[in-house]
Amino acid sequence: MKCTVCKGPAVIDIRRHNANFCSEHFLRLCRDQVAKAIKDFEMLRPDERALVAVSGGKDSLAVWDILLELGYQADGLYLGLGIGDYSDASGEMARAFASARGLHLVEIDLPTDHGFDIPTGARAARRVPCSACGLSKRHLFDEAAREGGYDVVVTGHNLDDEAAVLFGNVLHWQTDYLGRQLPVLPARHGFPRKVKPLVRLGEREMAAYCVLRNIDYIVEECPMAAGNKHLGYKEALNAIEATSPGSKHDFYFGFLARASAHFTTEAEAEQQELHPCGRCGAPTPGEVCAFCRLAERATAVPVSLGRRAEASR
Ligand code: SF4
Ligand SMILES: [Zn+2]
Ligand SMILES: [Zn+2]
Repeated sequence: MKCTVCKGPAVIDIRRHNANFCSEHFLRLCRDQVAKAIKDFEMLRPDERALVAVSGGKDSLAVWDILLELGYQADGLYLGLGIGDYSDASGEMARAFASARGLHLVEIDLPTDHGFDIPTGARAARRVPCSACGLSKRHLFDEAAREGGYDVVVTGHNLDDEAAVLFGNVLHWQTDYLGRQLPVLPARHGFPRKVKPLVRLGEREMAAYCVLRNIDYIVEECPMAAGNKHLGYKEALNAIEATSPGSKHDFYFGFLARASAHFTTEAEAEQQELHPCGRCGAPTPGEVCAFCRLAERATAVPVSLGRRAEASR
């Protein structure tokens, strides 16, 4: 197998590009694809400060690395979710990456800083763990960006992630979610801009990128993900991609080019007026934001406060 660019020995084939790459040209391809996504969707400018949500997994460490390689200013944010050994190991990976490169990693620990972990929070709020987790992550990323004066929050969602989320939203016609499924969510009402620079790269490519760049990442999946519908959607799309390379790309980018605008209008019309949460000051449609209500239940504060939060829902 030869590199399509230089004819040297190739280390990876990418069927949807119908091409093979040596290490050097593969790393260049990854950087070029991120640069193209940033340019096409106007994600980030070099004079802006980015905060990368780092989980210790391949995608978030790779996107941090690529942004720095492309000359952007990017710090990391690690959120300790209190998910047993998984959180301990993922935190170590994030810290090791940052310290080996002299990078700034902001750390927030849910159990220490907010008094509860994801499994407890999910049980107390009668939510599935990924729902309590997603809500907490969004809230804490936004808050950290506001407090640290960052212009944009970067996440490591890749093409496989976005295609799987789109698949699930289309399968159930969740039109409000479809309206917000974009690679860039502009800043609004005190929320920072959110961007996904890896949308043009797949999961397998990100794993290869980390191996070739000597980036150690946590390989095991979060134990809370078991049985999660998202994994089933990924498997279904992988089966389609195996027989028809490029399907995931066409599905996701076709949606962005030809369909998403129809749903965006609806999502915008549904946006409620926001004002500061009575507890933490975050923008919310109610009196108390969803994160403060979750924290309240998870830490079992007095019933009278609980009722007040309920009344504001
Ligand atoms: S799998 Fe679910 S619980 Fe685990 S980190 Fe992801 S969203 Fe959170
Ligand atoms: Zn080459
Ligand atoms: Zn709040």
